[in-house]
Amino acid sequence: MSWDAWGDPALAKPLSDDIRALLEQLLGVSAADGSAPTADEVVLRPSALPEQDLSALAAIVGEWNVSAADADRLPRAGGKSTPDLLRRRSREPQDAPDAVVLPGTEEEIAAVLAHCSRRRIAVVPFGGGTSVVGGVDPIRGAFTAVLSLDLRRFDALLDLDEVSGEAVLGAGLTGPQAEQLLAARGFELGHYPQSFRYATIGGFAATRSSGQNSAGHGRFDDMVRGLRVVTPAGALDLGRAPASAAGPDLRQLFIGSEGTLGVITAVRLRVHPLPAVKVHEAWSFPDFATGAAALRAVEQQGTGPTVLRLSDEIETGVNLAMAEKIGGDQVAAGCLAVTVFEGTEEQTAARHERTRAVLLAAGGTSLGAEPARAWEHGRFNAPYLRDALLDCGALCETLETATDWSNLDALKTAVTSALQSTLQEGGSSSLVMCHISHVYPTGASLYFTVLGAQQGDPITQWAAAKTAACDAIMAAGGTITHHHAVGADHRPWMSQEIGDLGVSILRAVKDAVDPAGILNPGKLIP
Ligand SMILES: Cc1cc2nc3c(=O)[nH]c(=O)nc-3n(C[C@H](O)[C@H](O)[C@H](O)COP(=O)(O)OP(=O)(O)OC[C@H]3O[C@@H](n4cnc5c(N)ncnc54)[C@H](O)[C@@H]3O)c2cc1C
Repeated sequence: MSWDAWGDPALAKPLSDDIRALLEQLLGVSAADGSAPTADEVVLRPSALPEQDLSALAAIVGEWNVSAADADRLPRAGGKSTPDLLRRRSREPQDAPDAVVLPGTEEEIAAVLAHCSRRRIAVVPFGGGTSVVGGVDPIRGAFTAVLSLDLRRFDALLDLDEVSGEAVLGAGLTGPQAEQLLAARGFELGHYPQSFRYATIGGFAATRSSGQNSAGHGRFDDMVRGLRVVTPAGALDLGRAPASAAGPDLRQLFIGSEGTLGVITAVRLRVHPLPAVKVHEAWSFPDFATGAAALRAVEQQGTGPTVLRLSDEIETGVNLAMAEKIGGDQVAAGCLAVTVFEGTEEQTAARHERTRAVLLAAGGTSLGAEPARAWEHGRFNAPYLRDALLDCGALCETLETATDWSNLDALKTAVTSALQSTLQEGGSSSLVMCHISHVYPTGASLYFTVLGAQQGDPITQWAAAKTAACDAIMAAGGTITHHHAVGADHRPWMSQEIGDLGVSILRAVKDAVDPAGILNPGKLIP
């Protein structure tokens, strides 16, 4: 993973002249000044961890698994939101964890947490570092130093119960590593967020991630059958049976706990046999409201697509304009919807037919398989495009929420207008695109992509727009996050989300499992 951009530097592509011209025409962006530092030129705040702590940590995990070197601290300095990437490009001194520790066993994690509790050192659990909400920011809070606790050595398939369809996966496995281990045994997890290539099993659980196949396989939290967690107060092995009436479900306290309550070391997950066939079909709807009603009908009738998503008019139009410029296949105007079906041949054909009937009745026009295949082919590449846009002086960032079907349109209008008016006040023209990518019988998520011109300090510029959008989400009855999690960025809205009593409950749990408060200060819990 690049330290200052998304993914593999070899796959990064500059924008073509045609796309640059389109950006200039739409947003008036001109190229950025191109003065971003190289990794060697970045100035990091010096490590504040005393030598005696480095030695004590080395005695626990081995000296090769502790480092205070800038080369190891820089890649864990933050996540991958647009403000994170802009901060990495700064020539001002940058903050970073004081050291990086790579434990290899649960006993080592327990000993590291005990040492840090005693010595008042904060600990940030680190998976793939793909957080877009400041989840891995090196916040010290009241502590003297902060460690990045990297879980990458927890990288095994620990068990596969083929009869029950369950696998126990190490928390540090990335999406592709987990799928490769399962595929070798004929199974699939089927969790494909856009960050799939770099995010980890522990990170998915800690953030309540949702993948692009959520219509078929559910969110990541739906897949969790059990998990192991090491807290400063001791270890927990949660989830004894597929379902239980033994009081409140404690798994739910740790799923979504974002490294503030414990370190997840392994997750027992529902898996399924690799699909025998895949069928794709794209659709066009005259407008977003008609398309959203069609998706609702599919979900409420339970016709069973694996992927179900709908772009609004602006997102469809921008994709169309980009496809024209790069000579790709064009999609029709209106609103593009994508469906994909997976399973045995018989199941897939039946689900496809049932879904087609609903979409046709709801006013959809079939565009055939190709646009849906093209979407699937390019689905992990958009983050590279964001880097190229930032290089050209554009501002590009995403945010997401969810609500009930009856409130979807009002929420979309409120968030779009908050973003547009704030960016406009700052003097930037903008495009606010939206899609539905996760659906439920009672509602759906809304995922916004904002494209504008950088004006002044783009971090401040985006902070104003994001604050306005978050306020609008809360006022219009949405959730502050459907799948990106809370981290540091959404924390100011947590009291509104769960109420003051809800915050007190979370604080009480934290006091019980992390009495010194060392785990991920400044995140999730206000
Ligand atoms: C380009 C891009 C696309 C994205 N697309 C999606 C998407 O489609 N769906 C989606 O849900 N999210 C998406 N995200 C957000 C992000 O990928 C998810 O939140 C992901 O689940 C984070 O996993 P990670 O392993 O990278 O965790 P990290 O970023 O390393 O950590 C995230 C949080 O979890 C905690 N944590 C990590 N590992 C552990 C552990 N083992 N135990 C305890 N706490 C832990 C961290 O302390 C932090 O608070 C995207 C992000 C980017 C940059």
